[in-house]
Amino acid sequence: MAIKRLIGINGGTFDPIHFGHLRSALEVLMHLNLDEVKFIPSFQPVHKDCPEVSAVHRCEMVRLAIKRQPKFVLDTIEADREGESYMVATLADLKKNNSDTILVLMMGTDAFAKFNAWHKWQEILQLANIVIMRRPGCMSDYGNNVAEILDKYRAEKLTQQAGQIIELSVTQLDLSATALRGFLQNNQAVDYLMPASVVEYIKNNNLYGIN
Ligand code: ATP
Repeated sequence: MAIKRLIGINGGTFDPIHFGHLRSALEVLMHLNLDEVKFIPSFQPVHKDCPEVSAVHRCEMVRLAIKRQPKFVLDTIEADREGESYMVATLADLKKNNSDTILVLMMGTDAFAKFNAWHKWQEILQLANIVIMRRPGCMSDYGNNVAEILDKYRAEKLTQQAGQIIELSVTQLDLSATALRGFLQNNQAVDYLMPASVVEYIKNNNLYGIN
């Protein structure tokens, strides 16, 4: 059998991208020895409010942020598809075009806590494995439904092409895009919380009410 490529799928709103996203992705990349991590900005997240800035700007900020890490790749599949961004559709498309890959969906604890409400979550587990990244301030004692899913699919390490869930502790950076948007709206500096290239892009394009 041909050797499969191991690809991390890092979906999110990235409104804007920050070091919490980047550092956790790097640690998963190293820990699982992934061949690549695809950063996939959603067009319209299903379980969140509308993003504050356009998908074009969010994709551009991701592109700038990941420039120096050759194994980080921007994939605009959801931005190009437009409409609500269902992860199951994204994974199915990625699988169709790359049959020689094993997909590992990367989720923070806050995202996994709502996994039972994700559209066709059972199908997601047929298409991919999941790695849960422990995130500051987020408990990992999930509600009953999510705890049941975790019990059923939990593994110590990935040995299958899909259907396994592992948990990983990443360096705890207490950052969120919400907090960063708050700083920007109050004209407070966001330096050292995200790559300098992203700070510059935000300023140059007057994003998030910055003036
Ligand atoms: P918002 O504050 O707007 O809700 P966010 O910072 O949580 O945004 P998203 O783009 O919604 O970021 O998150 C994408 C993914 O990155 C999710 O799986 C989320 O759990 C994870 N993530 C975000 N911030 C961190 C962090 N500081 N540490 C680890 N994972 C994170």
